[in-house]
Parts: sequence; C-alpha cells; structure tokens
Amino acid sequence: MRMSKTFVKTLRDAPKDETARSAQFLIRAGYVHKEMAGVYDFLPLGLKVLENIKNIIRDELSKIDCEELQLTALQNPEPWQKSGRWDENEVDIWFKTELSSGGELGLAPTHEEPITNLMKTYIKSYKDLPVYAYQFQTKFRNELRAKSGIMRTREFLMKDLYSFSADEAEHAEFYHKVEGAYAKIYDRCGLGKDTYETFASGGIFSKFSHEYQTILPVGEDTIYYNSDKSIVLNEEVVVPEVLEEFGVKKEDLESTRAAEVGNIFTIKYKYSEPLGLDFADKDGSKKTVFMGCYGIGVSRVMGVIAEKYADDKGLIWPEEVAPFKYYLVGIGEEGQKTAEEIYAKNPDKILFDDRDARPGEKFADAELIGIPYRVVVSDKTLADGKAELTVRATGETKLVDIDKLDLAR
Ligand code: ATP
Ligand code: MG
Repeated sequence: MRMSKTFVKTLRDAPKDETARSAQFLIRAGYVHKEMAGVYDFLPLGLKVLENIKNIIRDELSKIDCEELQLTALQNPEPWQKSGRWDENEVDIWFKTELSSGGELGLAPTHEEPITNLMKTYIKSYKDLPVYAYQFQTKFRNELRAKSGIMRTREFLMKDLYSFSADEAEHAEFYHKVEGAYAKIYDRCGLGKDTYETFASGGIFSKFSHEYQTILPVGEDTIYYNSDKSIVLNEEVVVPEVLEEFGVKKEDLESTRAAEVGNIFTIKYKYSEPLGLDFADKDGSKKTVFMGCYGIGVSRVMGVIAEKYADDKGLIWPEEVAPFKYYLVGIGEEGQKTAEEIYAKNPDKILFDDRDARPGEKFADAELIGIPYRVVVSDKTLADGKAELTVRATGETKLVDIDKLDLAR
C-alpha cells in the first residue's frame, strides 16, 4: 500500500470524548473512524488487522474440522420466542425494528436460536452428527456503556462457533479441542502470555462456563488467580462454595483487571429442546441434540492488542496481526528510487511512505501506525550498499546489506 494513494491520513488529535488510549491511537493512526459512541468504521488498515485476526481463527478452527458459514443479521422473532429470548426482560440489549410489510424484526445480538433452527433442516439422524459450524458476523447490542473504544461497541464483529453432538462424551471431546485451538489463536494474536482460561458463571450443564480473560489494567472484568495461575476465577464465581471446590482461600488469590476476549459454553439442550432439534439415534429412539457455543470478540481482540501493545508514540502490532510487516521510507533521490524498487518486489508486505513529506513526519507516523519493522533507504546508507532496519517494539536499529534485504519474509 502506498501512503500517497490512500485517502486516510494520520490525525493529530482523537475525538475529545474518546477515553481509551487504544482507540485514540487507532483513530489517530487511521485504523478506525468514530461514528458515534460505541460505533466505529474500520478503515483500510483496520480492516487488514481484522482480516489477519480472522485468518488466524479460520486456520485454527479448520484444523479441528469446523465449517464456516454466514447467517443473516436480521432476525425472525419466532425461534427467539421459542427460547424465551425475544422478551426484553430476558435480553435487554435488543435492537428491534419493524418491517414495512408488517411485523417485527431484530438485529442479531448472537445467533444460537437461528443456527439451532437452521440445523433442523439438516440434522435428522445420528449419521448427521457431529456438526461444527462457525461464522464471523456483525452483532448488534444496545449496550448501556460504551466507553472502551472498540473493546465494547454497539455493533461488533464476533466469531461464533456452535457444536451439535449426539451426546455429552462427543461434546466433551470437541470442547477440549476448542480449548486447544483457542490457546493457539490467542498466542498467534500476541495475547498468549496474558490470556487465561477462567472459570465463570453461566454454565448450564457443567456449572461453569469458561472465559478467556486477558490481563489488562483497563479491562472491565476482575479475575482472581493463585500465584502459578493454575486457578483463575472470574470474581462473579468467587464465593465460599466455589473456593472450597477449588481448595483455595480467597486470601491466597490475587486479583487483577482483565478483558474478556472470548468464551466457551456447554449449552446442552438449552436451545435444541425448545426449538425441537432432535435426531434419530442408532436404535431408532428420538434424542435431543447436545450443543456447545464458543465465541471470540474479533474486534475486541483487536482493541485489546492495541491497548496492550503501545507506547507513548503509538501502536506496536505483533507481527501476525500487523497490517503490513514493513514500513518503507526512501530519503534523497537515489534512496527514493531504490525504495520504489524494493516496494515493487513485495507490495503486499510493505506500507510504503512515498508521500511528499519530511522524513521526521514519516518517522513519527511510522511509530504511530506501529508496523513491526521500519526500513529506511537514504543516499547516505546506499553509499555503503546498506539500508537501516528498525524494530518498532525495541527501537533497535541496524544497517543491513541492501542486496540481502529480503522483504518477502
Ligand atoms: P461481556 O461480558 O463483555 O458483555 P458477553 O458475556 O456479553 O461479554 P458473549 O455474548 O458471549 O459475551 O460474546 C462473545 C464475545 O464477544 C465476548 O467474549 C467478547 O469478547 C465479545 N463481546 C461481547 N460484547 C461485546 C461488545 N459489546 N463489543 C465488542 N465485543 C463484545
Ligand atoms: Mg455482554
């Protein structure tokens, strides 16, 4: 991508009402645009980051045999009425609207009901099971609070995976595989070290659900953990019975703020029963499908990464999620010519700052935008056949032979 060609420009200031540092940087660096409180547009660079996160998720989920689909965001009230969740006393974050042809319609805050309903068309027999289906979908939630930039928004991107199994044993086996996949996903997103599988409430079958919590000072949740972090509990389950079950005392646990970047639930028959998702088992008997659901807040993950990986100058993207690996600047006539040649070889990996601007301005933007490596070719470095390579995370700079500079990797 050429900086001279994009309509996006870096900004000196973020909107005054934007309190989250990650959002301030994301806006100033041109990743997102704030539409209103809790509502953001994703610009070309921001979209690339989202796509990179999505591709990491796709890659890991395909390894455990999940299929990608895309459900509609528009919701027919019927399946939700069957589960009881159309009722605003049950779900208080609905965006509902009316069809001009008459009747109500909702914007999906999640998709358990429609996917359970959809599977009734395809799951009839034990031979049709298991099914593991996921999507990346925009969710709409009329959240009361929206103050954490893209970490809590009224329209956000979620990866939601649903499992349909014949029985608990098959479900448990898959649930375990998802835990493995999630560990790899957060790791590849650069969050592995600080993300913990956490016991939380909301389990229907197993008492607990599991949340994936990333330690973050501005996170909205509080988690409790023992020193080696083998026990991590959301504060909502830190009650006498649970502490006893885990064999720990509250005073032996430390607490910290964290952000929920995903969760996994055993939902058993919660939706399959009211919606009538049954199958004929081997012996011909009719059974209810055993379900699980597994979410990742894709846009929240992006916000958490931006919050975690930044310094006072700007963002510092981990390599696998960065929109580009290299930020290229040419200085002087020869330097610019050589930079053009380097760019032409690997345009997909390079954000080429070919603007008519001072080097100082380009370097400041390189730091704000947070591309992992900056490559500067100037007449001076070229005189020795070299280019300057700077690591954004450490500021470490070295001169490398221009002939050996391989930006394909
Ligand atoms: P929270 O407790 O943060 O409201 P939740 O319990 O409502 O989350 P789910 O409904 O299971 O979460 O959604 C799955 C994932 O989607 C969450 O783990 C989180 O990462 C993300 N998420 C939930 N609500 C939002 C939101 N308003 N904006 C951005 N991401 C969200
Ligand atoms: Mg919520």
